[in-house]
Order: sequence, then C-alpha cells, then structure tokens
Amino acid sequence: MSNTPTITSDYQESIESYRQLITSTGEDLERPGLGDTPMRAAKAFAHLTKGYHQSLDKVVNDALFPSTNRELVLVQNIEFYSLCEHHMLPFHGIAHVGYLPNGQVLGLSKFARIVDMFARRLQVQENLSEQVAQTIMDVTGCRGVAVVMDASHMCMMMRGVSKQHTTTRTTAMLGEFVHDNQARMEFLSAIPRRQPAF
Ligand SMILES: [Zn+2]
Repeated sequence: MSNTPTITSDYQESIESYRQLITSTGEDLERPGLGDTPMRAAKAFAHLTKGYHQSLDKVVNDALFPSTNRELVLVQNIEFYSLCEHHMLPFHGIAHVGYLPNGQVLGLSKFARIVDMFARRLQVQENLSEQVAQTIMDVTGCRGVAVVMDASHMCMMMRGVSKQHTTTRTTAMLGEFVHDNQARMEFLSAIPRRQPAF
C-alpha cells in the first residue's frame, strides 16, 4: 500500500478505464492529442487519491514536542483540494484548525499534511472535517480540536444547480470545544470570515 505506484504495473487498470471512458464519449483515442491522455489521467487520479496510501505515522513523523502552553493554537488558511465521492468532481477550499494543547504540541506543518492526507481521497466535506479533527485529537492527546472548512464544489458549479457563488462551510468540534462556549467563540472569532467562491 505504501509503495508509489509504477506506471507499468499499478496504473494499467486505471489507464484502461480511462481509455474506455474517453471512447464512450465518441472520441477517437488515436487522434493526436489524446495519445497519452489515459496515462496522464491515470497518474493525475493516483495523485488526487494518494491519501489512501499514506500512513499517519509517516505523516506525523514524530513531530510531537513537549510544551506547557495550554492556550489556543490556530493554524488557518490551509488550502486543500479533494474529490467529492458522489460525482468524483473536485471541491476545494480553505481549512482552519485550532486545538488546545495538553502537554505537547504538534509541528505546525503537520496540520496541513493531515488535511491533505484525508483530502486526497473520495470525500464528502462533512466527513473530511471530522476525520481531520479526530486525527489531531488522537495524535496529540489535546483537550479539544476545532476544524472549519470553506469550500467550493464543482458538482454544484459545473452541473446540477449550476450555482457559481455558493460556498459550503463545515465545522467539527471535539473535546472542550463541544461544551465550552468561550473556547468556541475564541476560535470562531479568530478565523477569517467565510471565503467567497473561487
Ligand atoms: Zn458531488
């Protein structure tokens, strides 16, 4: 699972699937321009779903450090790109992650890596927010985690209701953020206002 797929073996099934998909539109796979498209698309899809092959241990990489700080740590404006599991169309946006340390802190870049690990899968935004929050809770043993994600969904913009300016905000709160209104308000007032669609 953890090995990087090679073009010759692991991509073969995916390449064949893309060949069939392109052919199903009536396109001519032999025409110039499409020759390497199935292979390129297979590689791109592997990248967009590489979160399935990442291990949390490797992502965190022992970047936990002792700390007496118990106040809110906020990592904001983490951009992410994902694929909705209903249409396999992209959704993308910004994540804000806050947590209340309990004796140790996690290296700051790891929050972005954890967001990516779960975003690079077939997802729904609601679950993505929860998975990021729960993972940070489990990894750090902190007192609480708050995650807010604002995203634009191509399945709403390019098809269906075709709304170009709609954004979706999802929230996941764990630990002290669940019942401590002061902690919630501190987090929610510190993060940027809802992002416009882009
Ligand atoms: Zn969708």
